Amino acid sequence: MSAVWTDNEVLPIEREQRIERETHKLEKRLCRLTGQAIADYNMIEAGDKVMVCVSGGKDSYALLDILIKMKQRAPVDFELVAVNLDQKQPGFPEHVLPEYLAKLGVAYHIENQDTYSIVKDKIAPGKTMCSLCSRLRRGILYRVADELGATKIALGHHRDDILQTFFLNMFFGGKLKGMPPKLVSDDGRHIVIRPLAGVAEKDLVRWAEHRQFPIIPCTLCGSQENLQRKQVAIMLREWERKFPGRVETMFTALQNVVPSHLADGTHYDFKGLTVNGVASDDGDKAFDPPDFAAGDSPPGLQIIKI
Ligand code: SF4
Repeated sequence: MSAVWTDNEVLPIEREQRIERETHKLEKRLCRLTGQAIADYNMIEAGDKVMVCVSGGKDSYALLDILIKMKQRAPVDFELVAVNLDQKQPGFPEHVLPEYLAKLGVAYHIENQDTYSIVKDKIAPGKTMCSLCSRLRRGILYRVADELGATKIALGHHRDDILQTFFLNMFFGGKLKGMPPKLVSDDGRHIVIRPLAGVAEKDLVRWAEHRQFPIIPCTLCGSQENLQRKQVAIMLREWERKFPGRVETMFTALQNVVPSHLADGTHYDFKGLTVNGVASDDGDKAFDPPDFAAGDSPPGLQIIKI
């Protein structure tokens, strides 16, 4: 009878080789998806100085790490500068990022601003501090971008952040609105980019483990976790567990918007609609709901036959 190896019993050398292969595949995927987003949205152009906001969390570490790799092989020349805003939260390990960034050999700037005291002073105990805190942080980072001569501000939001925001806006704001891969900042003066827009969070978790980033906990401010976002994240994870590929399909959907089949008159002229007399196989079969044949379904979309 032939021996059957369980995962834990695989010979160490084979296991090591498998991990190495998977890590290599992960790195290629991260670079491919990041490169794709940069190209699709024209995020980085020749001569850009990209200010990468590094908070000490896994996502922003990964963003910087991947952009450094991309810079070496990019078809255009651009500069990177990592920026951390030390908000003086109690227990913030202020030596961690400067040491890490210096070792990396990337240009960096640490901005010291005690927004923590301002927020504590202005917000009553027990009330959420995030909106004032993030407003202050945004203003400071825009100023720093100007002072550094940065032409783009890069943030580490990923695909799951974008989808969570989309559902939060839908459930609680009554809006079809996500988190764009590229936008003009609210002060109208900066271009903000999210090069990890197409990257799954679970890949960033694995990359952070592999690279052993010196993660700084994000709970130092003592603020409550955003429970609604947490619930939406759980909902998305549960869907993905039951229907693998669904999250990817939903992200694809964000890039395939059909305004004529939604109901927003500001994005489609329903009032002025006229016939053109031309039949189209792709046209809308108004009397029947759309039919999805099993073979047509993108990954994650389960066809339920009734
Ligand atoms: S979680 Fe803390 S640091 Fe983050 S925005 Fe809220 S108050 Fe600021």
